[in-house]
Amino acid sequence: MTDWIAEEHKYLFQNYGRQPVVLDHGSGTRVWDVDGKEYLDFVGGLAVNALGHAHPVVAEALAAQSQQLIHTSNLFYTKPMIELAKLLVEHSCLDRVFFCNSGTEAIEGAIKLARRWGHDTRGGAYEIIAMQDGFHGRSTGALAATGTARYREPFAPLAPGFLHVPWNDLQAVKDATTPLTVAILVEPIQGEGGVNMPAPGYLQGLREWCDERHLLLIFDEIQTGVGRTGSLWAYEQEGVEPDIMALAKGLAGGVPIGAVLAREAIAAHLVPGDHGTTFGANPLATAVGLATMRYIIDNELAEAAARASDRLMTRLRSMEDRLPVVTEVRGRGLLIAVGLSRDISADVVAACRERGLLANNVRPNAVRLMPPLIVADGEIDRACDILEEAIMAVTKHGS
Ligand SMILES: *Cc1c(COP(=O)(O)O)cnc(C)c1O
Repeated sequence: MTDWIAEEHKYLFQNYGRQPVVLDHGSGTRVWDVDGKEYLDFVGGLAVNALGHAHPVVAEALAAQSQQLIHTSNLFYTKPMIELAKLLVEHSCLDRVFFCNSGTEAIEGAIKLARRWGHDTRGGAYEIIAMQDGFHGRSTGALAATGTARYREPFAPLAPGFLHVPWNDLQAVKDATTPLTVAILVEPIQGEGGVNMPAPGYLQGLREWCDERHLLLIFDEIQTGVGRTGSLWAYEQEGVEPDIMALAKGLAGGVPIGAVLAREAIAAHLVPGDHGTTFGANPLATAVGLATMRYIIDNELAEAAARASDRLMTRLRSMEDRLPVVTEVRGRGLLIAVGLSRDISADVVAACRERGLLANNVRPNAVRLMPPLIVADGEIDRACDILEEAIMAVTKHGS
């Protein structure tokens, strides 16, 4: 029998720390490995698989569009990109959409748009203030915006013009603002940073500061968007509207896609020749995006995620009483982290996997759960049982 893991080690770049499981197929919230072992998938493709695995809506849109048009180039108009853009505009506070292929590319597009606007309207202001522990992607621009020095430093020099200030510190943003500042870039909830919640009023404070200083507020909703936090976009629950928003991950149910949304007056600053991408807006990705988003909206899956979250949070919080090692349960909707008092998350995730639950050790002391929006109550209960057993096994008695 093929040793797939050994082959992977031989042929692929060794730039990922993959969990030692070779996945073969899935259905809903469940996946099976090549040996036929079943798992509950609470990684959800890192918040990508909004509708789980092999959802008929996604599969049928893929099949149908693949037989009609997969790619045309942006020299032409096609219907799916227009329909998806229209749907995103009608269901958000923003007016125009640019499609690309990943979150990183959406951030790059947002950075270029902000700088073009600064060039045209703010005397060439270009500096972008971003947050420590923020994550925005891996290209030399998106990485420059990313707030984790250890990701950035080996690849210096990166794109200049980015400043990082502590998360949840409004005064630090104000102190860092100069006449060259063009935008503030922030995740409404920090995902890769460990599911860090914004302090009450923080995002509102950023909005007010942007208005006062004529800066653009850019929300990176790549992880928090598409129903993940219990509303279609996370900003809705904060009473704050961004000027520019970056999307990707769940937008096309697993097919690679990214999008930049912006207010009309800002988007107007990009003119033909300023920006583009070959695969962006291609009919395959946008048709699947359209089917996925329609399904999420028509079936109120953001609201379903909020209900599922209540069940999951209640159960996880009850673990805090039984297991002293569980110090905190944080997050919103189906973007949740279980904080631990010790750096045992990798062991807990391994113990979960042995017992049939896939989870993510987002920090050495935090386990992240991001099941599909369609996760069932019984699956939540089962996942919590497994997680509790796993923590007990790793700590012997839970302390
Ligand atoms: C995943 C992520 C990105 C990067 O997206 P890619 O598709 O991996 O390029 C950027 N920002 C946030 C908040 C993310 O969660």
